Amino acid sequence: MKNIVIVGGGAGGLELATYLGNTLGRKKRANVILNDRNQTHLWKPLLHELATGALDDGVEALSYRAHAHNHHFHFEQGAMVGLNRQHKYVELSPVYGEDGDMIVVSRRIPYDYLVIAIGSKSNDFNTKGVAENCIFLDNPAQAMRFQQKMLELFLKLRENQALDDIGEEESKQQLAEDGHINIAIVGAGATGVELSAELYNAAEHLSSYGYGEIDSSRLKVTLIEAGPRILPALPERISNDATEELSKLGVKVKTNTMIVEADKKCLITKEGSQIPADLMVWSAGIRTSSITQNFDGLEINRINQLVVKKTLQTTEDDTIFAMGDCCFFMQDDGTPIPPKAQAAHQMAGFCAKNIIALFEGKPLKEFKYNDKGSLVSLSEFTAFGALGGKLTGGSSMTIEGKIAQWMYISLYRMHQAALHGCFKTGLIIVVGRLNRFLRPALKLH
Ligand SMILES: Cc1cc2nc3c(=O)[nH]c(=O)nc-3n(C[C@H](O)[C@H](O)[C@H](O)COP(=O)(O)OP(=O)(O)OC[C@H]3O[C@@H](n4cnc5c(N)ncnc54)[C@H](O)[C@@H]3O)c2cc1C
Repeated sequence: MKNIVIVGGGAGGLELATYLGNTLGRKKRANVILNDRNQTHLWKPLLHELATGALDDGVEALSYRAHAHNHHFHFEQGAMVGLNRQHKYVELSPVYGEDGDMIVVSRRIPYDYLVIAIGSKSNDFNTKGVAENCIFLDNPAQAMRFQQKMLELFLKLRENQALDDIGEEESKQQLAEDGHINIAIVGAGATGVELSAELYNAAEHLSSYGYGEIDSSRLKVTLIEAGPRILPALPERISNDATEELSKLGVKVKTNTMIVEADKKCLITKEGSQIPADLMVWSAGIRTSSITQNFDGLEINRINQLVVKKTLQTTEDDTIFAMGDCCFFMQDDGTPIPPKAQAAHQMAGFCAKNIIALFEGKPLKEFKYNDKGSLVSLSEFTAFGALGGKLTGGSSMTIEGKIAQWMYISLYRMHQAALHGCFKTGLIIVVGRLNRFLRPALKLH
């Protein structure tokens, strides 16, 4: 039996493994193996909600092993660190336990067909001090680190208020600005904009979690963008509306501001001015891990993405596919496919069909990205979007408010449907609605 190995169980890879498991794996036509460095999957666009406590990962995260068992594929944990194309195997790093003990040794997983779907991470463009002083939102561990730091700041604020009340000024803890929490977010793409709004939503709920008389008026978020407007991928009208909406919440939007250095307590702009902050997040641009440089001569671009042909096969090796954020796919109009969950979702469905075609000795098809537009959610407050592609008959259309919020959520529902099927996804939606009454609004621990 042939081995199909999929590396990376994210928005695209897990959908692909589920589809191939349910088809080739179930009929024992192929041995489908999913590999991820983590044990559980959380859909990446939810990370900013995890960071602010709006999402409970205990409810949303999915165990790869349990999912593999139910969908006729195997799961191997460990980070892919190397590739041997001649002998056709991928090399996985060992897995270490909580105490640092090696639990699983490094392994070689043989493949007949390999799909690489390892996603992307934040690109700090080697900006001085960013890696040491800013938080990235690339994975659940980093999102939880943000949450922990945010809660510590609110606790500091509460303690300072209490010390104020008894006149013990000198024992107060230092914050960038007395009486406020300052959070600076670099990069006003969807992640930065969504996180800004989500923070105001979280701050509104904090007083009911024992954080004293704290509300969103104590929070100051500065959203910094090097370009002339926020949400550059969306039409100008939407970026103006979103700026207005964020300003109403209290977000200070700074456009045309290039950050050249991050210090412990502030960001430094190209002009030399300082933006003080208690917590700094970097969400300006993406790149793929430099590990792809060890992938045995596969062609990569300047941000380490694997260059693919129209069939999603890598340019150097027809038995190796790449998809999602980690692939560089140049479209006929001369633009690359953007790193988005909807692209990863479409590529997963397409890649599955091409792999099945390979099995059946049929010719492979060429992938065409159907850009259905972009949506951005400002937490519970509102959402904005620009729709396009087949959805609107080719013309572009902007939406906002409830309908945009509903469409934003439907992107996640599509991912869940690809993993669990429509019936189970329907049940998950019902349980989610019940949980809104049963569970607290935030999960903060
Ligand atoms: C905060 C945030 C909000 C976003 N919001 C949106 C949105 O609203 N709409 C939208 O379309 N897109 C959004 N995106 C982008 C979207 O999340 C990505 O485009 C999408 O997840 C890409 O899917 P993928 O399968 O290529 O990679 P990922 O979903 O990132 O999955 C990659 C997987 O590979 C694993 N992995 C990485 N390296 C290795 C290795 N060496 N070995 C083994 N496993 C490895 C990772 O653990 C992960 O499970 C957002 C991103 C972020 C960070």
